[in-house]
Amino acid sequence: MKKKMFMYNTLTKRVDEFIPNEEGKVSMYTCGPTVYHYAHIGNLRSYIMEDVLEKYLRYAGYDVKRVMNITDVGHLTSDGDTGEDKMLKGAKREHKTVMDIARFYTDAFMSDCRKLNIKKPDVVEPATNCIPEFIHMIEVLLDKGYAYVAGENVYFDTSKLEQYYVLSAQKEEELQVGVREDVDEDTNKKNKTDFVLWFTKSKFDNQELKWDSPWGVGYPGWHIECSCISMKHLGEYMDIHCGGVDNIFPHHTNEIAQSEAYTGHKWCNYWFHVNHLNTKNGKMSKSDGEFLTVSLLEEKGYHPLAYRLFCLQSHYRKPLEFTWETLDNAVAAYDKLRKRIQRLSDDNSSVTPDDSRQITEFKQKFAEAMANDLNTSSAITVLYDMLKSDLSDASKRALAEDFDTVLSLGLMDGEAERETDHDTDTELAAYVEKKIAERAAAKAEKDFARADEIRAELAEKGIMLKDTREGTSWSLE
Ligand code: AMP
Ligand code: ZN
Repeated sequence: MKKKMFMYNTLTKRVDEFIPNEEGKVSMYTCGPTVYHYAHIGNLRSYIMEDVLEKYLRYAGYDVKRVMNITDVGHLTSDGDTGEDKMLKGAKREHKTVMDIARFYTDAFMSDCRKLNIKKPDVVEPATNCIPEFIHMIEVLLDKGYAYVAGENVYFDTSKLEQYYVLSAQKEEELQVGVREDVDEDTNKKNKTDFVLWFTKSKFDNQELKWDSPWGVGYPGWHIECSCISMKHLGEYMDIHCGGVDNIFPHHTNEIAQSEAYTGHKWCNYWFHVNHLNTKNGKMSKSDGEFLTVSLLEEKGYHPLAYRLFCLQSHYRKPLEFTWETLDNAVAAYDKLRKRIQRLSDDNSSVTPDDSRQITEFKQKFAEAMANDLNTSSAITVLYDMLKSDLSDASKRALAEDFDTVLSLGLMDGEAERETDHDTDTELAAYVEKKIAERAAAKAEKDFARADEIRAELAEKGIMLKDTREGTSWSLE
């Protein structure tokens, strides 16, 4: 039996019950990083919350297939079709090729995700792998009359749609958001909201990545990649599409426009958007001077999973302000939580018949919190309440492990340390017993000097011997 899930849907602008297209299965797509620089911890807030959504759906019994793209071409410095190609900008900054930059920052992103316990999606596909698919979709859009060629570029004609702003109500002047003032308006466009599907008349003579196409040598626009990559792996009907709120317009709005024009039917039912991580100066962004990375947190001595807890303590739909003080609070809470779990004994003998009733109740409360539009902070409160309860240590340990399949805070990571401690204890005992036997043999041979030497040797290591009538016992100082 699948547990119910309710989530806010940007498309309907309300909290909806989640009902997938195919019973028991979930197809999920995530807009991946633009790999021209390190991901900042704001980007990673989005990926952490999307990871929790995926893991909760699995926990609730769904069979999830999740796909993510890697943007390695076509994303310009403005989210509209103006400005410089971000990948080219990164390559120039570092005097490397675009592909070198893409490879380096894709690996760096994956490494950050591992440190934050973000599961790798089932499929990760770079945009540059799918050029034939992009060309095919653009050809169909041209055939159907949804696209036109102007000034050697191919554009999507938004006036052909019954409704363009399906995700958000935008005003004309807001279309300028993110567009740099020094960039001229593209005069080839028939409508202000039209967007580029394929560039051939590149403003950048030194654009490194170009492919042959029916419209000449060029490269794809940014939005087409997500429509094509998701359909390549998930088909023409999708359950959940994720991203940060800045993706709502124009990126996701354009994705819907071209996908539904292409298929002729509704494409994706649920849109999950994570609000921004802000600094005192506004949204954390790669293009705006200083931004914080996972490596920087590590250099400053912060455990990456303490940042994950920091994110889970707030609701994904609320903006989250980052300060070092609030991160410090999360670190203190994280350390305390882990120590508390490590201290739990795994002695099953203390499990009482009342445990199973409480276990069911705590599991239910945890699931209710997560199913309530992914209320992670309430779910963490359930974890604390459970640890404070009179459940046996063994049951608390089992529940913490269960909740951590969704929270992924590394709550049981102390297990390895515990096992190592245990191994160390066993080795120590074997060593001391051997020394005690040696000392007994020395005494039997009346070699009291050697016996005293062994006692002193052990004392130096903090191991104290006590001779009794039953034999020699030992303890640590
Ligand atoms: P990008 O690498 O710029 O394509 O962005 C990767 C993901 O991070 C996208 O889903 C963005 O919406 C999201 N994002 C960008 N900035 C922030 C931020 N400050 N806080 C949370 N998510 C963000
Ligand atoms: Zn996308």
